[in-house]
Order: sequence, then structure tokens, then C-alpha cells
Amino acid sequence: MTEPVTRTRERPRPAPRRRGRLLLAGLATLIALTTFTIAGPAVAGSRETGAKAQERAAAVILARDRARFLARYAADPDRPFTTSFMAFRRELHGSALYRVLQLMPKGGLLHVHATGIGEAEWVVRRAFTEPDTYIYWGPASETWARGQLAAYPQGGVPEGFIATADLERAVPGLRARLLRLYTLGPEDASIPDIWTEFEAIFQRLDVFVSYRPVFIAYYRQSFLTLARDGVQFVEIHTSMDPLTTRGGGTVADLDVLAAYRRALAGVRARYPSFGLRIILCTWRGATVEEAAAQVARERALAAAAPGIVHGFDIVAHEGTGHSNAFYAPALTTLPRVPLYLHAGESLSPEDTNVQEALDLGALRIGHGLNMGLFPGLEQRVRDRRVTVEVCPLSNQALRYVPDLRHHPARGWLRRGTRIALGSDDPSIFGTRGLTDDFAMAYLSWHLSLPRLKQLALRSITASTLPPERRERQRGLFERRWRSWVAAVAASGAAR
Ligand SMILES: [Zn+2]
Repeated sequence: MTEPVTRTRERPRPAPRRRGRLLLAGLATLIALTTFTIAGPAVAGSRETGAKAQERAAAVILARDRARFLARYAADPDRPFTTSFMAFRRELHGSALYRVLQLMPKGGLLHVHATGIGEAEWVVRRAFTEPDTYIYWGPASETWARGQLAAYPQGGVPEGFIATADLERAVPGLRARLLRLYTLGPEDASIPDIWTEFEAIFQRLDVFVSYRPVFIAYYRQSFLTLARDGVQFVEIHTSMDPLTTRGGGTVADLDVLAAYRRALAGVRARYPSFGLRIILCTWRGATVEEAAAQVARERALAAAAPGIVHGFDIVAHEGTGHSNAFYAPALTTLPRVPLYLHAGESLSPEDTNVQEALDLGALRIGHGLNMGLFPGLEQRVRDRRVTVEVCPLSNQALRYVPDLRHHPARGWLRRGTRIALGSDDPSIFGTRGLTDDFAMAYLSWHLSLPRLKQLALRSITASTLPPERRERQRGLFERRWRSWVAAVAASGAAR
């Protein structure tokens, strides 16, 4: 059995004690109806003209919804772009703009991490319904973080862990307090090092989410949320650690993939084409030897499950871990592993991970925020046709881009640098699916409708999918896009 040598984005976790509005409802209907209309017989030329007219009409409606939304903030125009998203999200989610964008097809989600993929509210609810679940409520230590969740079906509950129902009787407002412990929100504004708190959140959640019954339910729910959000497939960056089972044992690798497939099966009953890819990760604290072993593990899993596992990434705080080049001996052995590397999630001119990722032949880079500090580097990214995975609300929550209007991706798009939008860790940033990142990019960067389409399409062309699956996803996307545009255009007449 493979021992875990890496973690998702977090520090190594200690092992558990036992291994153990009516109009919009109409919009959805319109999408279904227009799908039929568009598919029906038509002269090619008039269909083209009609599609362009619909694109123009839909663009006008979206721009109007954006203007109406921003008009609410005439007295405080910075608020939508600078407020902690946890404190702002209700205002966005209640808007007509959000509801229209939620139905927009988004292609694939290329940048999201295990454990952070779902919704913190779901985890809190599950903690009170999953049998044998305990919460650590002692002082924070090297081993345990306050609010850490774990299931101990075989007994052997460590000191400081209290059964969820017992703790709820003793601690007023426990569920709201847990939600704050599992997310980055306004209450974290005074924390000097936001990454320390960010990593502590993974520690609080990892053991519980790695409990197989919870794991399957969590991913099923996360995939459903994504599919409802117009996402066709997801590429999860994960170290794919072993899962604990009800019997107190652990399962790894192919058995973890089997658990992912079970979660996927629950989604495909409603969304038959929803797809999953795994990009295996090591973490920046690993030795070269550990990283090499993880690369070998990726090659073996990619051979055993070629439809799912594909590619490699290095994760965790760039400011404290090894650089990408440090791992060159592990990453350049033959057969070469395809690289989708985190790089430039930093504002430091000392962080040269983007150059190093390009030198290593990375096909995509995650974040790239400090690219502008190095002359010619963005041009090099463009010349190499490397796609940058941009996660606006993650970048804001982790304090790289306090004002979303100043996100460097706004300039990258205008200069022709390839980008796709990701959510990074939605459960921790309080986002849902991928609509929040699209909505805030649309609001903050004055994107046109063709730009929105370009962003979504890029996620397909830059995906890890083999060419034939990519073409199928692209065909599906184009059909859904035409239906959505037609429905938005038609809804304008009703409003
Ligand atoms: Zn990431």
C-alpha cells in the first residue's frame, strides 16, 4: 500500500488515531426550447445571421444586468471588488446577473484542489449526520487544529475530540463557528499570515473528507454543483492520499479511483457526459526522491486508468517551499510526465517559478501572478502557447489581489495571453461551482460576451483531454452556448 508522501496544498496531516424568480426559471426552459429550434432545419446563411443577432441581443442584456447590479453600489463603488467574498456573496447570488451567468456553459474547470472542491456548508451539515463524527475542541497543537473533524467508527477517539451532538449542546452557535473555521472570511482580516490559516483549514477538513463514505458523498455533491453550474468536466489537482474506511482500514490508488468513479456515477445519472481528470500532485516540502516516487506513481496510474489520471503538479505555498526547478531531476526523467505546474502564486520578485515551469516544459501554469515583474516573461508564456489558470476569488482571499479590478489577468486577456478561469478551493473561499469567478471577472474586467466565450472555450482547448474527447467537449459546448445565448436573447423581450 502506498504511504502518503504528499498533501493537497497543506502541511502533512497527522494520521487519525485509527487508520481507519420565475423569469429565470423560464430562462432554463427557454434554453431547452431553443436547443430544439437551433437544431431544426434552417438555411445556413440565415442561421448564421440569426445567431449573430442573438449574440448581440444577449450581450446587451448581460451588460444591462451588470449596470443594474453595479448601480446598487453608487454610494460605495469599491464594495463589489474589494469586499471579502464571504461577506459579499449573498448580494451577488441574489442578482439577475448571477442567475443568467449560472446557466452559462463554462467548459471545464481546470484548477481546483481536492478537499477544497465542495461547499463548507455541506461539510458542516454532514458532520452532524455522519455517525461516529467528532470535533477537536481543545487548544491548537502541532497535531490538532481547533475545529478539526474526524470519524472514528472503531472507537479510539483521541483526547480533545468530542462527539458533534455533545459539542453542539455545549457550544452555542457551533455550526456558524465551524463555518467560520472552515472558510476564509472577514473574521480573518487581522491574521498576519493568511497562508497559515489557509493551511489550518485543510488540516481541519482533510481527515473527515478522506473517510470513504464522506469522500464519495462529498465528491458526488461537488460534481453535481459543478454540472448544474454549466461545467462539463473537472480536472482535480490532488495528491490522492489513501482513504480510511468504516472498518478502520485504509485503501489507496486504484481503490481511491474507484471511490471517485462511484461519486461520478451518481452525477452521470443526470449529467451523462460529466467528466473527471486527476492531475497528481506533490507538495513543495517533498524531497526530490519523494517527488520522483510520486511521478512514478502518476505514470503507473495513468497507465492503469488512462481516462482519468493525467499529469503532474507541485503545490503549496511558494513562499516557503521548494521552487519548481528544485524538482527538475524528478520531472525530466523519461517517459516525461505532462506538467501543469503552480507557478507565480506570489507577488515576490524572488519567486522565479514561472520561468522555471516554462523551462521544464509545463503545458499550463497555475496563477502566474508575479509574471509582470520579469521583463519579457508574459511574451514567453504567449509564445509557448501556455495557458494560465486564473483563480480570481482565490487570489483575492489569499491577499494577492485585494481589488479584483486590478487583477493582472485583465491585461493578459487584452494582450492575447491564454487564460482559463478556475476556482482553486471553493469550499474555503465561499464560492459555489465556477459561476462566482466568472461573475466577478465579468464585473471587474469589463469583459464582452465573446470574451466570456473565449475564456470558457480555452478551458477545453487547454485541458488534459486527448484530442477526440476534447473535440466532443467542444461540440457539446458550442451546442449549449448557442442554446444559452438564444435563451438570454429571448428573455430580453420578456423583461
Ligand atoms: Zn491551486
